[in-house]
Amino acid sequence: MRFQPVIGLEVHVQLKTASKIFCGCSTAFGSEPNSQTCPVCLGLPGALPVLNKQVVEFAIQAGLATNCSITPRSVFARKNYFYPDLPKGYQISQFEDPICQHGWLDIQVEGQESKRIGITRIHMEEDAGKLVHGDVSGLEEGSGVDLNRACTPLLEVVSEPDLRSSDEAVSYLKQLHQIVTWLGICDGNMEEGSFRCDANVSVMPVGSETLGTRAEIKNVNSFKFVKQAIEYEIRRQIELIEDGATVVQETRLFDPTSGTTRSMRSKEEAHDYRYFPDPDLVPLVIDDAWVQRTRDELPELPEQRMQRFMTEWDLSAYDAEVLTASRSLAEYFEACVALHVNAKAVSNWMMGEITRALNDSGTSIDCCPVTPRLLVELLKLIEGGTISGKIAKTVFEAMWQSGKEPATIVQEQGLVQVSDSGAIEAIIDEILTREAGQVAEFRSGKDKLFGFFVGQVMKASKGKANPAVVNELLLSKLKG
Ligand code: ADP
Ligand code: MG
Ligand code: ZN
Repeated sequence: MRFQPVIGLEVHVQLKTASKIFCGCSTAFGSEPNSQTCPVCLGLPGALPVLNKQVVEFAIQAGLATNCSITPRSVFARKNYFYPDLPKGYQISQFEDPICQHGWLDIQVEGQESKRIGITRIHMEEDAGKLVHGDVSGLEEGSGVDLNRACTPLLEVVSEPDLRSSDEAVSYLKQLHQIVTWLGICDGNMEEGSFRCDANVSVMPVGSETLGTRAEIKNVNSFKFVKQAIEYEIRRQIELIEDGATVVQETRLFDPTSGTTRSMRSKEEAHDYRYFPDPDLVPLVIDDAWVQRTRDELPELPEQRMQRFMTEWDLSAYDAEVLTASRSLAEYFEACVALHVNAKAVSNWMMGEITRALNDSGTSIDCCPVTPRLLVELLKLIEGGTISGKIAKTVFEAMWQSGKEPATIVQEQGLVQVSDSGAIEAIIDEILTREAGQVAEFRSGKDKLFGFFVGQVMKASKGKANPAVVNELLLSKLKG
């Protein structure tokens, strides 16, 4: 029997607000344990939550950017369970009437047609605290509870079970990640857990209409692990069924070292949480004007900007996609072309030297030492014939290190391109005399040797000879 995998993702997006969702404590990461707490996030009796308006703004933005409708009257609910990192004994979340519903994203897997993935809902909730096990100062042994993260605002984005492969799941996840970082509502840092996902996986016989029993894999925190975890889980379930066993509905944990998943607990059902509306928080009413205002203020989204780059600057789909991978990258590109240079040249340099240098140094485009203005100065030197494209790479390297103006570097290092035909001719004559044997071979029909002569001349000029002039003069001398 052949099997069809089915996947639905629940993504937790930590919102980039300065303060927590129901109190004024800071959300900064990495502080001394319990230094960012107050009676509300410590869950002390009688302390009352007050909703952070910024969280609502961000939730509406996320909903609009993922084609959701915004619920006019949404409700906060208590999700009751016991765990030491949850002092209140319940998490404030949304259950019925979440803030956003019925959205979708169109995903694209290489070599396949684009496919629409439904988003069931997006709701707002608070994060729990964190258990620490003897590895922080002041806690030599045993375990402790750090409540700095308690009450940090999260959005949970729940997809429909529309995904059919690990590649589709990763593509969906990457697009969602791109959107929330582009909007600036999440820092997207997966290692710190700002963007993490639970993957629900099941398999069913190909052609079946009934979904199989799912396992939910908790908190997978990189794109690579999501792919590994899903693929392992699909294999595990198929083997179980082929062996005549059944898949049980359960929560599993992914172990990155072995690339496998293992059972954590049997899956709880909604009724286990005894959800009920939180009496401390009034229903959240969002009128059309608020939604409209947010829609009007929404930035141009990655997909739209990609299309615009293709039409406005005549870029290929591939180039436009790379240049809109992040908002900062797209803005760097636009800052360059606004200074009136060839868009294709900017694109080539960004996808070549700049990307390479950023990767090598582990820098992000926001901290790129070669600013758009400096890159454009460099491109002007190439376009004006002052330096060759090859020398420009040397100049770029020096700009990266020193932050100096390209013209200054060219001056200081004597890199000005030699276009003077007299000077180039002298070099060519010398080489043709030295390489008389090769010249004879060329003239007897070995055309391929032309590249050899060009190389020799460039080398003798230390890369400074104008390649176009070299080509022209060499050709006329060799033919003559
Ligand atoms: P819970 O919060 O209990 O995990 P939800 O109803 O919020 O349950 O849904 C969890 C996710 O599981 C959704 O993303 C949904 O698409 C997905 N899902 C539901 N049924 C299946 C299934 N049979 N196979 C794979 N994914 C599923
Ligand atoms: Mg779940
Ligand atoms: Zn607090």
